[in-house]
Amino acid sequence: MKAIGTSAGIALGKVLVYKEAEIKIEKKTIDDLEGEIERLDTAIEQGIKELENLYEETLENIGEEEAEIFNAHKMMIQDPEYIDGIKGKIKEEKVNVEWALKEVTDQYVSLFENIDDEYLRERALDLKDISQRLIRILYGIEGNDLRNIKEESIIVAEDLVPSDTAQMDKDKVIGIVTELGGRTSHTSIMARSLEIPAVAGVKDITNIAKNGDFMIVDGSKGIVLINPSQDEVEFYQREKEKYEEFKQQTRQMKGKESISKDGVKVEIAANIGTPKDVDNVIENDGEGVGLYRTEFLYMDNDRLPTEDEQFEAYKVVAERLEGKPIVIRTLDVGGDKDIPYLELPKEMNPFLGYRAIRLCLDRRDIFKTQLRALLRASAYGNIKIMFPMISNIQEVREAKRILEEAKEELRKENIPFNEDIEVGIMVEIPSVAIHSDIFAREVDFFSIGTNDLIQYTLAVDRGNQEISHLYNQYDPAVLRLIKMTIDNGHKAGIWVGMCGEAAGDEKLIPVLLGMGLDEFSMNPASILKARYIISNTSKKEVEGMLDEILSLPTAEDVERYIDENIIGK
Ligand code: PEP
Ligand code: MG
Repeated sequence: MKAIGTSAGIALGKVLVYKEAEIKIEKKTIDDLEGEIERLDTAIEQGIKELENLYEETLENIGEEEAEIFNAHKMMIQDPEYIDGIKGKIKEEKVNVEWALKEVTDQYVSLFENIDDEYLRERALDLKDISQRLIRILYGIEGNDLRNIKEESIIVAEDLVPSDTAQMDKDKVIGIVTELGGRTSHTSIMARSLEIPAVAGVKDITNIAKNGDFMIVDGSKGIVLINPSQDEVEFYQREKEKYEEFKQQTRQMKGKESISKDGVKVEIAANIGTPKDVDNVIENDGEGVGLYRTEFLYMDNDRLPTEDEQFEAYKVVAERLEGKPIVIRTLDVGGDKDIPYLELPKEMNPFLGYRAIRLCLDRRDIFKTQLRALLRASAYGNIKIMFPMISNIQEVREAKRILEEAKEELRKENIPFNEDIEVGIMVEIPSVAIHSDIFAREVDFFSIGTNDLIQYTLAVDRGNQEISHLYNQYDPAVLRLIKMTIDNGHKAGIWVGMCGEAAGDEKLIPVLLGMGLDEFSMNPASILKARYIISNTSKKEVEGMLDEILSLPTAEDVERYIDENIIGK
């Protein structure tokens, strides 16, 4: 069976089918409505405590990004709209809290599930998770039986909610196969952090696979085999060994320089979302931060973060990285990232709409506050400022003008900052790549944001499942834009980095090296692997193949060319 590989690696072992015991909820008529509402409040309090414990446990055992899921749940469980909805139902219909909770949750879930957006569908799963928690608390039922698994198993489930994955016995779970979910679902994120091979989107697998069946899971290719032949078992055992060997070699890259086989040095940096992610950067030996996505500071709150709060967050990162470069991106909201309290307009085409630098140049108050905080933090480390979603030169000039105003204010107030702070832009809109010779005169660096550059070049919504087969990082038109940007940057004497997912793509890394990319910024977990690939690639050799690669007609041709002439060699 072929589905979506969501966490690399290979597992061979026995199946354990995990089905959440269904709790039957009955509708009852209630007289003491106040008492019923109090039961809800008490359950929420208890739920908050559990989520706080889960946050701490996950932070300690797994990581910050995974723990954040429970912080988000804590916010959802207290969401006034949700809670008032439940209380309203109890009062209006004189029903028991469990019934009201179920009804209101079902309404939201079906709303989210019917929206064609992976992110919102994931939120439906979060909502189910928190409502299950409340129901369990209200009925006094103990939860989760993935804690006590007796032998090493491959878990097969319809889907796993975050609390299932966070609490499962990690030594016993050697693989995960689910019917639902995708690469960005929480279960997948956790599986990648824990290095458990996982495959998602396997239709009907909870009915096809039986407890005790022997299964092979190839999380790199998205393959699941039930009761395989002896030949298949032997083949995958060898593949597993090869994979372990590769992992072992990448671990040995720790502490080494990022230098190609023919002696060209590059920088491999990390993408982060919060100051806590710095642990991960240090752990994986990142040479800096190539993208600090500051929107989380704004999204994890119910109001704008103050200048001081932002300053503290940026300063911590600057200090902890001890002089290593840190590219901090100014606020990039809109598109798929909403901030409810900003009350952004509902738009027909949010990805082409009021977002990122467009919003900042309109809401100067928000922008100036962030720039002041960034400048103040620049006195404590090697901070560089980057503007997202630039589409024309005027925006760069205007953003730089406001930055100058902020500098002038700080000078007057005698507040120290780095007078020579570098200023760059993201190249994520085709107009900028095409016009990059001119843009290069206005800034100190470029960072190519392939996540958006691909969607805008190919006109393929990056979050739309329906057309995801059209979204392709190997597309020759995208590669030509990348090459053009690097060449124009270098002609003007500025450095060029990349912070989109493509920078960590195993097959593209050699090609980007050949094009002369100076900085690769990626998920911290990919850094050592990227260093290993670079140390085994000759820049000159790939450079000699570029003309041929860039004249290939299709993305498939490009991928095949890389497989045959670079990777497979
Ligand atoms: C990008 O577009 O490539 C990028 C890195 O930014 P984001 O994914 O935050 O849009
Ligand atoms: Mg982007």
